[in-house]
Amino acid sequence: MFNEQQVVVKSADEIEILRENAIIVSKTLAEVAKFIKPGVTTITLDKIAEEFIRKEGAIPGFKGYRGFPATLCISVNEEVVHGIPSERVLKNGDIVSIDCGCQKNGFYGDSAYTFAIGEVNADVMDLLKRTKDSLFLALDWAISGKRVGDISSAIQNYVESFGYSVVRELVGHGIGKQLHEKPDIPNYGKRGSGAKLPTGLTICIEPMINMGTKTVVQAQDGWTIRTADRMPSAHFELTVAVQKDKTDVLSTFRYIEEILGPSSI
Ligand code: MG
Ligand code: MG
Repeated sequence: MFNEQQVVVKSADEIEILRENAIIVSKTLAEVAKFIKPGVTTITLDKIAEEFIRKEGAIPGFKGYRGFPATLCISVNEEVVHGIPSERVLKNGDIVSIDCGCQKNGFYGDSAYTFAIGEVNADVMDLLKRTKDSLFLALDWAISGKRVGDISSAIQNYVESFGYSVVRELVGHGIGKQLHEKPDIPNYGKRGSGAKLPTGLTICIEPMINMGTKTVVQAQDGWTIRTADRMPSAHFELTVAVQKDKTDVLSTFRYIEEILGPSSI
């Protein structure tokens, strides 16, 4: 699945820098959680995130990355990922994937959460819950000696059991001095397949799960990816360091959940 020589494992010190970045993006998403509600524009949320990241002594990780124009990727309803913040006003019943990156001390942070805006249909809430649960199931496989396919199959088997589908074109990834490093971490695959995970590998696991077809298309803005059938899609992302006998989860949804309280998914 990938050339193991391309994989950059991190020292304990480097993992601590990555942890600091992971916490910054985790707290940025919580800052966004304070303001995300019906009536807010997505560009407003982007400004809030950029201000917060800079106050933390970091810089936005996505802005300027391959020409992306904003701090956050904000993807609403049928949009899967890479949505561009705009004057779009969020409304009751929307679901909104917010993906946040930062860079500090030469390393990146990257985390995503899908928020429910106001009252969301129960079937769409189920998609969010199962997608988030699939991420936590996958975390348990991010230990030395397990394989990429163990993570991938944990996600795929779980979400497909509820009739949901896994996006193929977009995958999780290694993270470090580059935002996207080897190996790819697909959200579909076979248990026991793919390369072995070495101690010190740092990866972003990010299921992108559709309610309907797995097929996605790119919008005319050259960035936004949406479902071909325009049914909803959910996305959650955490960063982990692979260790012997345990997964060291570097980013967290704890700060978001403190803001959302009982309404969190
Ligand atoms: Mg991300
Ligand atoms: Mg990512």
